[in-house]
Amino acid sequence: MKGNSNKAHSRAIEQRIEVLKRRVYIHTIPILTDNLIYLIVCPPHRNEPSTVPALGIIVDNGDASTMLETMQMIQDEHYHGRKIRIVAILCTHKHHDHCAGNKEIVEFNDRFGFPTQIFAGAVEHVPMCTNPVQNGDILEIPSIGDHNINRYIQIEVISVPAHTRGSVVYKLSTLNPNKSEYSPVNYLFVGDAMFSGGGGVPFEADLDYGRETNAHIEKRKAHDAVHPHKGSYSTERCFAEMLIRCSNTNDSKPKVVIYPGHEYTSELLLRQFTPTKGSSLEWYKLPPSVFFEIASHYFIAQYKRSLPKGAKLLTIPTCLSRELMINPHFRSLRKQGNLLVSAIRVWYKHLARQKLSNTDYHPRASILENGTPLEKKKKIIQKSASSMNTWNITHDDISKPVFTTVYSHDLEDIINDLRNNCISRKAAADRLSKLSSQLDEIQTTRRPIPNTLPKDKAIWLGTLALAILGSPPCAVTRSDANKMNLPQPRIHSNSIQISRQRLLLVLIRLGVIDSMICEEARLINLLWKESSWDDSTILEESNTDYDTSQHNYDSAIENGHVETVQDLIELGYLRQELFGIPLTPPSKLPSCFRPKGSHPTSRGSDRDGIRERNLKNMKRATGELLRHEIESCKICKYTVGCPILDYDSEDGNNASEQTFQYTPTFDSRVLDAANVASSQISYSNENRTKGGEMEVVIMNGLGKPV
Ligand SMILES: [Zn+2]
Ligand SMILES: [Zn+2]
Repeated sequence: MKGNSNKAHSRAIEQRIEVLKRRVYIHTIPILTDNLIYLIVCPPHRNEPSTVPALGIIVDNGDASTMLETMQMIQDEHYHGRKIRIVAILCTHKHHDHCAGNKEIVEFNDRFGFPTQIFAGAVEHVPMCTNPVQNGDILEIPSIGDHNINRYIQIEVISVPAHTRGSVVYKLSTLNPNKSEYSPVNYLFVGDAMFSGGGGVPFEADLDYGRETNAHIEKRKAHDAVHPHKGSYSTERCFAEMLIRCSNTNDSKPKVVIYPGHEYTSELLLRQFTPTKGSSLEWYKLPPSVFFEIASHYFIAQYKRSLPKGAKLLTIPTCLSRELMINPHFRSLRKQGNLLVSAIRVWYKHLARQKLSNTDYHPRASILENGTPLEKKKKIIQKSASSMNTWNITHDDISKPVFTTVYSHDLEDIINDLRNNCISRKAAADRLSKLSSQLDEIQTTRRPIPNTLPKDKAIWLGTLALAILGSPPCAVTRSDANKMNLPQPRIHSNSIQISRQRLLLVLIRLGVIDSMICEEARLINLLWKESSWDDSTILEESNTDYDTSQHNYDSAIENGHVETVQDLIELGYLRQELFGIPLTPPSKLPSCFRPKGSHPTSRGSDRDGIRERNLKNMKRATGELLRHEIESCKICKYTVGCPILDYDSEDGNNASEQTFQYTPTFDSRVLDAANVASSQISYSNENRTKGGEMEVVIMNGLGKPV
């Protein structure tokens, strides 16, 4: 056999991983400088004569000569000289260092009259490919006579379009008949999609602008459209995909062994401690446990790789639990998960229309009827009594990333606190009396929109996190989507479908949340519920008793049944619910925020002209840019039920309605809430000052200023 004999790899040959007892093994074959070929071997039963070959599958093959030579040594070392016959080559992607040896293997097998099947992504143009595969395929590995490896293992295709558009990961799982002893371990052959301590360059993802800066986001109003398929974000989205697909169970810590295409570990770990151009050094911000994990793995890798030639050891395979700590892409995903969860907490605290009950009592059995509150079975949310001044925004609050437009909230807080047994009736009475004295003052500090929106960057990061964690990678082109069985690329990120179940499982596996029924998971379910405008079941519930529906919902979640909440919601709706950013196209102001001088009912090019002129020299940061039309603001209307006139009756037609670019119709609860609120508090439009500042005058129920 020709080829340069490479004795430096002899130590690697000694090792093999037993996937299934005496049935399936994985060997590692180092080739070229740092590439790795994996050889899956399924020997026949020991009683079979030694002339019956073992069945072999190779994953990637950049150098056939070294591979065949090493396979010879493996036969002698582990299988008493029994021949291994390669029946299939699984190619992760088209790069030369992963498939250059295909032709030679096919020719080698042809000499003995064996056919060789070559599997590769359907859009990859891998040389000699006989079986183009797509996302979700289960491979049918050819058998040798009765000797059928498909009886023991299953290999699934996971599409990861980032390093190349047709890159795939092969997931090997065992089909073990002894279920009692079955400890499911999955093996991922990831090619260049992931390395230990890093990930492959996203050569064929969409072009990236690089990590967006604040100025960038503001300039392009980029919070309106996130691009989870671009550049490094596509790598992270593929990491999330591998995380979600690495096991078929809902296990929070699945056992996964990872086989990358290169031995890059020590370089990549060292890089994490080395400042690079354009990125600040992150390691000193890491928690000590993570820092020591990376450092210790670096030293281990460094030791193994600096052994003399011939004694060198590999640092792979690696495992998922380790990569979750030492791989910067997984850490980035976790950071995004934490950010998202805190955004959802802020949303819940300030904007959610419903509150999760912390009691399990039937709301109709009221406390007042029998005098004693019913026993609390399970306290899920630790709720403290709301403070009276939560919504009195002062200059200190201006930079807080909270979208706030609340006027009747003080009253609602008291009602809710009373309902949830957070305060005594006496405390409620005290607060009520204080509330009425508060109403005597003109509240000028409550500014509903200017300065109180979350920062553009925060909105953008939160939206991006939703997309990366909650949706699978999409194809680069429509034809790729069809050929690879991937989601179509989206023109606008608003239409990306975000799956609640997926998001929950990713967050659990990243260690951001504990379980499907923990507090954060319930908040996520609530966010989904409140974002599903079109769900008829949700609208139906609004016609029934509020507390009853809430009770049913809560108990459903506690029992682990969350089918009342739909799974897929478009990103735009979630963003609207979470951050109050409407579904309008990018770079256009929603019509309820109009620059000074434009009339709410003016439309068309004329209006745009006015906007152009008036936007000059105005700053959004100081509130000059936007004049908030309370009576027509659908965000106000929907988030807090501020008193809004009925559009139809106001103008006698629907013309003004058309100037609003919101597509969803409002849930009847919102209108109900608005009517209730307007009977208690209303606003005087005339008393608003004319500048960028807006003055809100609280009026009593008779429509007179108090
Ligand atoms: Zn590559
Ligand atoms: Zn490579």
